[in-house]
Amino acid sequence: MAMNKAAIEILCPACGEETLLKREPKYDGFKKVGESLLCASCGHEFAGEQDVPYRGRARPAVFDDADRPAAPRVFSGDENARMCRYCADYMVNPFVQRCVRHKREVQATDTCAQFRAKPPPKQAGPGAP
Ligand SMILES: [Zn+2]
Repeated sequence: MAMNKAAIEILCPACGEETLLKREPKYDGFKKVGESLLCASCGHEFAGEQDVPYRGRARPAVFDDADRPAAPRVFSGDENARMCRYCADYMVNPFVQRCVRHKREVQATDTCAQFRAKPPPKQAGPGAP
């Protein structure tokens, strides 16, 4: 598995889709001069790597709260129970937090009308099925 072929998730400013970055070799005549960086959804071309709206990269760590304005640690009442982080549809990977149900990026502290309580976590730790 070549790492540089990994799907790169972007949030395209042109079409607003959460989509993937498409790389295409760019030629000047027969000479490869670089790569075009394209939105896989609408084909919008980004001028350069620095213009690609990578998702996740900009936020290096999902669990780094430093860039979040004073994320409340303590909730009172129901709020706590309905947050995405406690939802069965909430999914975390190293780059992004997602709602599987809505197929969109969420924050752990988001709340949602379609909240479904996650089954209580097993305390077995990694290695458990
Ligand atoms: Zn697009």
